[in-house]
Amino acid sequence: MIRRGISHTKSLRSTSWCLANRFLTPEDTISNVNSMDKTIENTSVGVNGNRSYSSGGVGLPSYMRAAVFREPNKPLTIEEFQIPRPKAGEVLIKTKAVASDIVSLNAACGVCHSDLHVMKGELPFSSPCVVGHEITGEVVELGPLTDHKLIERYPIGSRVVGAFIMPCGNCSYCSKGHDDLCEDFFAYNRAKGTLYDGETRLFLRDGGKPVFMYSMGGLAEYCVVPVHALTNLPESLPYTESAILGCAVFTAYGAMAHAAEVRPGDSVAVIGVGGVGSR
Ligand SMILES: [Zn+2]
Ligand SMILES: [Zn+2]
Repeated sequence: MIRRGISHTKSLRSTSWCLANRFLTPEDTISNVNSMDKTIENTSVGVNGNRSYSSGGVGLPSYMRAAVFREPNKPLTIEEFQIPRPKAGEVLIKTKAVASDIVSLNAACGVCHSDLHVMKGELPFSSPCVVGHEITGEVVELGPLTDHKLIERYPIGSRVVGAFIMPCGNCSYCSKGHDDLCEDFFAYNRAKGTLYDGETRLFLRDGGKPVFMYSMGGLAEYCVVPVHALTNLPESLPYTESAILGCAVFTAYGAMAHAAEVRPGDSVAVIGVGGVGSR
């Protein structure tokens, strides 16, 4: 399963590797995976270790694992966290593509160039943090006081895909439909590594130290996502291939449809294809 995931990922995200190779080769990443393997072995829980279940959430384990960035040019470390809890207007997602792959030692999957910028120290971001922002998954919990229309749209068990820009739904830009310019997203998440009450949802299992979130902190078994960042994922679309919908796909779509105003039948020259352009 792990091997299949890696080869599958490399073919799916070959251009990401082209970009990533400037900083991190696939072999480097796989070597990082081996480091993560050791990290996991050093814990008391194996990859398939049994876990106790909390009374707080039906069917939710008492803790989860996530990949943590602590300092530039060091491998991510797999660490144990309390299960994050969603607040009003937020949803707890059990990740199905990115996180399950990395935690099962397939770290090659779902590492966007933006994540690599953070990992290389080229993009300043609060640390320690959980990176990863291209997720698909299943809704397992909705925050209290979440609007009933949103609960109807994303019932427990529904399949979803998340966007890396997570609109608050309330600011002046969001209210005009310019979700990509959401003030809260840039003021709180990108500037501080938190959600929009100024707090993270990630706390280490031992000691409860807070860990920041790059977008939703998707390289984890569970993540909290503001509900306005979600879209239903049809049964016809597989979890793994669909993970890039919320980042690479709409980035390319925006460039073509809105900036270049490309229409079917147009002839175009693509210059500097890059990680987004050739997916
Ligand atoms: Zn991305
Ligand atoms: Zn907003």
